[in-house]
Amino acid sequence: MEQLQALLISYAPGIAIYFVVAGVIGCLLGLRKGQGIKGLIYGALLGPIGWLLTTRWSAQGKSCPECGGINPGRPAICRHCGVNLRAASKRTARSRMRGQSDGWR
Ligand SMILES: [Zn+2]
Repeated sequence: MEQLQALLISYAPGIAIYFVVAGVIGCLLGLRKGQGIKGLIYGALLGPIGWLLTTRWSAQGKSCPECGGINPGRPAICRHCGVNLRAASKRTARSRMRGQSDGWR
């Protein structure tokens, strides 16, 4: 019994480091899909299996029509290029072309 306790205590720092590293990697993978916290939990609890699951998630959030970046949640402004997403979603392909050309109409 005492041997088991000593063994557990000697492994504790390694186990703690494993959870932190696995969680951080999961968080970084999750952030690419706009779900950092979920990625952190999956990484810490499931380790490499959690990382694999995280890479297979579909991107959550609004994709920017200008730069194609994924914005988690329902933001008003793209976090990648700063475009106003509400105005950009109302814009059609035709009105975008009209805004670019400054010559003949
Ligand atoms: Zn953008």
